[in-house]
Amino acid sequence: MKRRAPRAAALDSETARLEGPVRTCVGCRARAAKSALLRVVVADGVLVVDPSGRLPGRGASVHLDPDCVDLAERRKAFARALRSAGPLDAAPVRDHVAGLSTTF
Ligand SMILES: [Zn+2]
Repeated sequence: MKRRAPRAAALDSETARLEGPVRTCVGCRARAAKSALLRVVVADGVLVVDPSGRLPGRGASVHLDPDCVDLAERRKAFARALRSAGPLDAAPVRDHVAGLSTTF
């Protein structure tokens, strides 16, 4: 029997390399390219969106999708991912995502 051409596998690995860093969305738990996710950090106990990805400290990633922000908030995933002692208000993230989705 002939083996299947490795073309598909080669294309897969090429795609993976081109995608670059991968992060897990704290909402739906799906892995996605870092560039497709919004980074959020905690500053003074408050969630801050970090679209430029330049703020210091521990970050969490979430899709630019209100459903994912909702999920993350309900599961307290932001507080867990960011090792926050207290609960975090996801309003800044929700507002940011809502603002984006009305723009598009
Ligand atoms: Zn997601």
